[in-house]
Amino acid sequence: LGDAPGGSAGKVSTESPPPPENVMEPHSFQADVARVMDIIIHSLYSQPEVFLRELVSNASDAMDKRRLLALQSDSKVTMPQLDKGEAFEVKVFADKIKKQLIIEDAGVGMTKEELLETLGSIATSGTKKFAEALKQSKGVGDQSALIGQFGVGFYSSFLVADKVSVVTRSAMENGEQYIWESVRGEGYSVGLDKAKPFGELTAPGSKVVLHLKDDQKQFLELSVLKNLLKKYSEFVPAPIKLAVRLD
Ligand code: ADP
Ligand code: MG
Repeated sequence: LGDAPGGSAGKVSTESPPPPENVMEPHSFQADVARVMDIIIHSLYSQPEVFLRELVSNASDAMDKRRLLALQSDSKVTMPQLDKGEAFEVKVFADKIKKQLIIEDAGVGMTKEELLETLGSIATSGTKKFAEALKQSKGVGDQSALIGQFGVGFYSSFLVADKVSVVTRSAMENGEQYIWESVRGEGYSVGLDKAKPFGELTAPGSKVVLHLKDDQKQFLELSVLKNLLKKYSEFVPAPIKLAVRLD
């Protein structure tokens, strides 16, 4: 093989440095989380679509929090900048090529500490009440009633995804972009998102990326998503935008 004119042979050392990699810290879920997750998966396998209601409501809650914080006097938290195309809206994006469903918000985001606290434990409202009631409950019938009563929260993502990635930038501090990942809910890892596998967040907010299970690809269909958003998220105050990238 000859060297092409102006070819790159011998110039390898002058090439740009390798792209940054993410250094991820592994963590295990609090024991209660593992239990709640197990019950969610076993009692809700026949209605996996509830995950969308939960993720859209989290997105909406996060934007409410940001709005409230931004309205306080001397707040460091800002409103979305309309001139930069930012808005309080939930974006649902189905990527048929990558088999990913992405739920993005312009909410309050999470610091690294908040990621560890809220997506590794059940310190938070809905899921905590659910877990407490679960301790008193007897049998599967009881459990499905409880799920209806409290909502099941973020962990319902694992009904449809075998891997979940959360990319987030907090509105509270001059937020760096962090990434949280879990495969099948078997432990999770957190790191500074230098590699940006899901792009850069240029403003505060979060992006939940669901890597869909092979048998849950229906959640990439426009008609399916449209119907679910209509059914479950009619009363979500924020506008919801839906887009699908076709294969
Ligand atoms: P709940 O919504 O009842 O608190 P979830 O399991 O749905 O329980 O969510 C757990 C916590 O994770 C939330 O309380 C919130 O602190 C955090 N969280 C989840 N999704 C987001 C998001 N999109 N933006 C910011 N924080 C989030
Ligand atoms: Mg929730």
